[in-house]
Amino acid sequence: MAPALLLDEGLGLVNRTSSSTRTLVVGCGNLLRGDDAVGPVLVRHLAALGTPPGVRLADGGTAGMDVAFAMRGQDTVVVVDASTGSGHPAGTLYRVPGERLEHGRAEVENAYARAVPAEGNPVAQAVLADVFEVRDRVWRGIGMIPRSGWQLAPRWRDYDAEHRFDVAAVTAPESSLCRSGEVLQGLIKPSECSAFGKECTPRRPLGATMVSNEGACAAYFQYRRLEPVTITARPEVVGV
Ligand code: SF4
Repeated sequence: MAPALLLDEGLGLVNRTSSSTRTLVVGCGNLLRGDDAVGPVLVRHLAALGTPPGVRLADGGTAGMDVAFAMRGQDTVVVVDASTGSGHPAGTLYRVPGERLEHGRAEVENAYARAVPAEGNPVAQAVLADVFEVRDRVWRGIGMIPRSGWQLAPRWRDYDAEHRFDVAAVTAPESSLCRSGEVLQGLIKPSECSAFGKECTPRRPLGATMVSNEGACAAYFQYRRLEPVTITARPEVVGV
């Protein structure tokens, strides 16, 4: 997962004349996945054409956190992305309500009610019910949680690697230093782990929450939320 790329910073393509309004156009999607590339391709075309004062372009790729940080301080954010199942033609514009952010209210609102009804997706639910069954599952950093996971249903067992291959003896012991379970449960902040930024970095992660850049520990490391622990290794650039 690559971080968001502000095209005017990364490629020097955008008109940076000052303006009283700030607009960010974010192209989201994966260049390697056909139509999903529409966002990154479009912002590249806009960059080549030139943009009005106050408009910036970002290739959001498949990033999450990085895009969110790029949105800070903008008056308007336009997100260009591909979607399926909306029932609307290509090119349809959606307005995502920003009132909750503006008023500091932490609420969840379904802005895509026509595509995502309250009862969920019955077709997907039927497929899941056919393919999987609920089982107890051990979660990294947390331990066993009864009926918290899925496994392939008996009729699909021929496709289940746990049954086809001799993996019973394969284990992935966790570091005794790692407190990712407490991080995941919100009991501590990543920087309160003694290994944060020392024995554990994105380059040499000790726990799951430092592995992907969406993990809490990796995000704290990347965005330098270091209190109260002083970092000893520098954040690394994982791609632009
Ligand atoms: S900083 Fe590393 S060792 Fe500490 S909780 Fe996070 S992933 Fe585990």
